[in-house]
Amino acid sequence: MAEQRVGFVGWRGMVGSVLLQRMQEEGDFKGFAPTFFTTSQPGGAPPQVGLEAPPLVAADDLKVLGSQDIVVSCQGGDYTKSVHPRLRAAGWRGYWIDAASTLRMEPGAVIVLDPVNQPVIDAALARGVRDLIGGNCTVSLMLMALVGLYRRGWVEWVSSMTYQAASGAGAAQVKELVAQMRALGAAAAAELDDPATSALLLERKVHAELGAPRFPTQHLGAPLAGSLIPWIDKAVDEGQTREEWKGHAESNKILGLSPEVPVDGLCVRVGALRCHSQGLTVKLRQDVPLPDIEAAIAQSHPWIRLVPNEPRLTRERLTPATLSGSLEIGVGRLHKLKLGPGYLGVFTVGDQLLWGAAEPLRRVLVQLLERQ
Ligand code: NAP
Repeated sequence: MAEQRVGFVGWRGMVGSVLLQRMQEEGDFKGFAPTFFTTSQPGGAPPQVGLEAPPLVAADDLKVLGSQDIVVSCQGGDYTKSVHPRLRAAGWRGYWIDAASTLRMEPGAVIVLDPVNQPVIDAALARGVRDLIGGNCTVSLMLMALVGLYRRGWVEWVSSMTYQAASGAGAAQVKELVAQMRALGAAAAAELDDPATSALLLERKVHAELGAPRFPTQHLGAPLAGSLIPWIDKAVDEGQTREEWKGHAESNKILGLSPEVPVDGLCVRVGALRCHSQGLTVKLRQDVPLPDIEAAIAQSHPWIRLVPNEPRLTRERLTPATLSGSLEIGVGRLHKLKLGPGYLGVFTVGDQLLWGAAEPLRRVLVQLLERQ
């Protein structure tokens, strides 16, 4: 059989780079013919991945795109909006794998997160679905943490309070966060080096720098270092942000739930670099004993790392500082809340560039290549 042709668009960006890195780590670059596309450097050298590839092709070249069996796009929503409908209108029947949100809620698309929804993916492929879209990072990470409870039918609703990293906003925001940290450190350097400086003086220095016109906020829109931003994405109806809206819409679509399980909460950007954290209140349908809950979570898939609800291990294992760059999904602080026996408190941390973005795309690509 002829080798599958796979086109990669957006491979140079943050999600695309992590995707390529993971594919190389897993030895996925074998047995197919890659073509790398670009919106900026047509004719340039393709990345070295261990497979022959032609020079970079313009990402709006519908003819070359249309000759691919599979296209993987990490380029962004505007690109998807512009290219995907034209490719389909031209009769292209290949698989479109995408990190952008544009197509996620389309009836003809499936959201991919295979450790959570392999049966939903299988059913979609069987009925001919060809648009396979990665979920919102926060939603995917929440479901990776809670799927063991969902599978047992224990979840009545979830309230999710998020602590989202700068990487979810994009590369420019990550850089700006670190620039903000540097500016704060520089503004307070002299006081910090003087052991006699009071904490209040230090705080005043930092506070003045946060409000200074020179303080870099062009991409984040506000100080994030030394602060937080309780608004992510656009406003939608009823006081929600679009990021908050996705919690309910996408979690129910990913799991294929009917009736739906309500999910809502507040999404907050914090000064972490690439791990999203979430404080979850889970309303259980019944009073399930804590050991049964722990067992259900621990057994849900191989990447769960259950952290005992105690201070030393929580500080060591359940933080963005520990879990950045790791495929592990940290789940801890598990305890029944004072609200009542059916109310569970959970804290979860996961790398949003891995399970929150690139890893589900990589895994569905490998599945498609193995199926054909
Ligand atoms: P990104 O880092 O901004 O990259 C997007 C594109 O920008 C690249 O493919 C590249 O295209 C171009 N680019 C321009 N200057 C660049 C530079 N200096 N370095 C690298 N690339 C540069 O975007 P992203 O954060 O990966 O997000 C891509 C899509 O994934 C978006 O739809 C986003 O919503 C979605 N997503 C993101 C995350 C996340 O964590 N950031 C999570 C889930 C989904 P050319 O090579 O063609 O020039």
